[in-house]
Amino acid sequence: MVATDVLRGVHYSDLKGQYNPSFQSEKGVSANANPALSLSPCGDTELVKKVTTVGFDADDTLWHNEQFFKLTEARFAELLRDYAETDHLMERLVAAERRNIGHYGFGIKGFMLSMIETAIDVTEDRVPGRIIREIIEAGQEMLSHPIELLPHAREAVEAAADTHRILLITKGDLLDQERKLAQSGLGDLFDGVEIVSDKQTPVYEEIFTRHGDGAAQALMVGNSMKSDILPVLAAGGWAAYVPHGLAWALEHADPPESHPRYRELPDLGELAALLQQV
Ligand SMILES: [Mg+2]
Repeated sequence: MVATDVLRGVHYSDLKGQYNPSFQSEKGVSANANPALSLSPCGDTELVKKVTTVGFDADDTLWHNEQFFKLTEARFAELLRDYAETDHLMERLVAAERRNIGHYGFGIKGFMLSMIETAIDVTEDRVPGRIIREIIEAGQEMLSHPIELLPHAREAVEAAADTHRILLITKGDLLDQERKLAQSGLGDLFDGVEIVSDKQTPVYEEIFTRHGDGAAQALMVGNSMKSDILPVLAAGGWAAYVPHGLAWALEHADPPESHPRYRELPDLGELAALLQQV
């Protein structure tokens, strides 16, 4: 596996081999089965809207993640209960995360630093070293927590890999995401892995163009309206929202209910059926 610095993250290019032009037919996406080709007026063959590439979000789409943040937040509140009410503490913590995201990026390390900063703030610089130590230990435990796949995750990835080019597209701490992907046992199924610093429309456009046939022929699956759905729709792609239940305040956005390329799925078990339709 060759790591290459690309754009704003790292990608592991072509885990299943370099792209080749016969990819579609090899993987069962043929013009006969589901028309992907049409003739332009001048007779040239051109691709139309058929989805050829599927991007999967990782955290809380394929495996549990947010629940570990929520547990750590509860532990953080307990550590500081002599100094701040829980609601107030959480407001301060979210404000710190929001303030710091442009400096630290997404992930556990930035979360640890925002907890430490919040602890210093709410104690007016009097936070005991013991509490700082416990915050760091809580973060280190998160960084070593075993992966637990969400229901239908493996079957959904395997089924998509049989019919489409599939990518893992995630943000967060590089080492932590690599660790989780390795532990998940799903790594070899992906044609490409992109660990990016933020998931915005130009990032998706670049990834789906480099690995696939552009955003218009890509579908992104994820649990974050803000990071997985809206920027992909803005790029001209399809997006399947799979709600997780637990959500991080910074990922909130309203659903684009009437968008023609937006779908909501109750779980990943419905993905294969959707991929037959688009
Ligand atoms: Mg997610």
